[in-house]
Amino acid sequence: MCDNIIDSQSYQNFVIRKDDKLYNSKDFTNYVSDWETCSLRQWLNKTFYNTAFSREEKMLIGTTFLENNSPDGTWFGTDTGDKIFILSFEDVINSAYGFDSSKSEFDEARKLKGTDYSKCQGVYISQGYPHWWLRTPGDGKAVYLVSSYGWAALGQGVYGTGVGVVPALKLNPKAVDVSVVYDLDGGAWAEGYTAPTSYKANETLALPTAENVVRAGYTFSGWEQTSFVNKTVTYTAKWISNGYTVSFDSNGGTAVADKSLKWSDKVLDGVSDPTKAGYTFAGWKYADSAVSSDTKFSDLAADDKVSEITLVAEWTAKTYTIKFDTRGGTPVADKTLHWDDKVLDGVVPPTKEGGFEFIGWNIVSPKLSVTTLNCTYGELVQDDSIDTVTLGAVWRDTEKPVIIGLENGKIYCGPQKFKVTDNDTSRTAVVIINGKSVEPDADGYYTAEPANGEFKIIAVDSFANMAMVQITVNAAHDYSDWKFDENEHWKECKYGDSVIEKGEHTFEWVTDKEATETEKGIAHEECTVCHAKRNENTEVQKLKTKWEKIRDWLISILVKIIKWFIDLIKDVC
Ligand SMILES: [Zn+2]
Ligand SMILES: [Zn+2]
Repeated sequence: MCDNIIDSQSYQNFVIRKDDKLYNSKDFTNYVSDWETCSLRQWLNKTFYNTAFSREEKMLIGTTFLENNSPDGTWFGTDTGDKIFILSFEDVINSAYGFDSSKSEFDEARKLKGTDYSKCQGVYISQGYPHWWLRTPGDGKAVYLVSSYGWAALGQGVYGTGVGVVPALKLNPKAVDVSVVYDLDGGAWAEGYTAPTSYKANETLALPTAENVVRAGYTFSGWEQTSFVNKTVTYTAKWISNGYTVSFDSNGGTAVADKSLKWSDKVLDGVSDPTKAGYTFAGWKYADSAVSSDTKFSDLAADDKVSEITLVAEWTAKTYTIKFDTRGGTPVADKTLHWDDKVLDGVVPPTKEGGFEFIGWNIVSPKLSVTTLNCTYGELVQDDSIDTVTLGAVWRDTEKPVIIGLENGKIYCGPQKFKVTDNDTSRTAVVIINGKSVEPDADGYYTAEPANGEFKIIAVDSFANMAMVQITVNAAHDYSDWKFDENEHWKECKYGDSVIEKGEHTFEWVTDKEATETEKGIAHEECTVCHAKRNENTEVQKLKTKWEKIRDWLISILVKIIKWFIDLIKDVC
């Protein structure tokens, strides 16, 4: 220790940061008395040390291990190893150093004179003695000092410049045992390794190396001395997070970009679910493990050497329905299927009576643009919000239409109405008369009008099934002669399609040859309408002579007399 006060300067004129707070800054808000960081310590160990001592002298000056805490335990300064230092509060109440053990004593040993230089520097002198700095911090901005009266006390603010400086040094300082504490910050010691727990302050501590520490997902990048107080130094391990990659196999869904992350990061943070037409996303899987929003990379990777893992999307197929309108055929049950199932797999074709052959399905609803049903549901709808498709049966009509009312090869008299029916009632057959398509009337009748020659009438349905009749149509019936039988007469069209004026004969006798008195006559009966004859060549009696007429007259008189006589007798009786 120097016998004199050799200088006068402030304890601290640096701004320091501690616990995220600025101290000793210009705004004078926060002050701290801290030996490790103070400007006085730097001045002593740089400017003063280099100026005041020769190279040889410096070789003799040891490094003294110093503790720098406040006596009341409010401030723990970092331990320092200094060539040049100033005494602590504990030093100046240490009787072993020749001081009075009471801080309050007006200890003559603690009274020191100032050099002329110190006076020039403005050291404050009272009672003939200056105050001089101790390195011991107090609370806040104050530092301990020895007053001009020789007692030691908490005194000046760190910025005071009128306090004297009394340098001290040790030539052979006693080696101090320093305890070492490690903060592995989540890491651990390598198996079988034991870290040193103390060292001599004048020796170099062999700190553990990267081989001695392990932390999954991190690379060791060295030690940081985070505190050195009360002969205990604390080293905190520094780690660099390893980079890992999660890649996503969306398994047919929309692509999901690779994700870079750290060992303990959640693999799905910020990852949007993929989508896949026809499927509901059911989460990610890694090997056989389901992956949740809380799953970390470290939960999945076997060890931290695994740099990349691939998650595979799980999908639940949505269910869709195909309905079948068989349009008169046997019913076909609804089919439930999935997006990638074939539309018609397992569908039994319907049958339909009445001359129909099933030839396939078409789309009834909704409106879709595909041209084949030999596809999957997804290919069919191409929009997974369409949950139902209705198909309709398509039938081939295998029977030809029927022309009703006309007989092939027949001759008709006058216009002929006819109808055409087809087993496929959903479509009207096309009717062609002599090469010209005709339409039916309101009642569904077609008419073959009279014309010369033959009619060729063709009815064709939509599957080209064809019916044909050939007929002749005359302008009217041809009733040229009476026809009759024994009792009736009538007129009949010579084409046999009509009978008119039918009635019973009205016979009258017709004389073929008049009778004479000498010869018989001949007569027959004849219908006055149709002139049909019967009883032909019937004989007519000869005419009577004059004598025969008189005889007949006398006989009739005689008969009358006899009748009169008989009546008379009856009256008398
Ligand atoms: Zn006729
Ligand atoms: Zn007649």
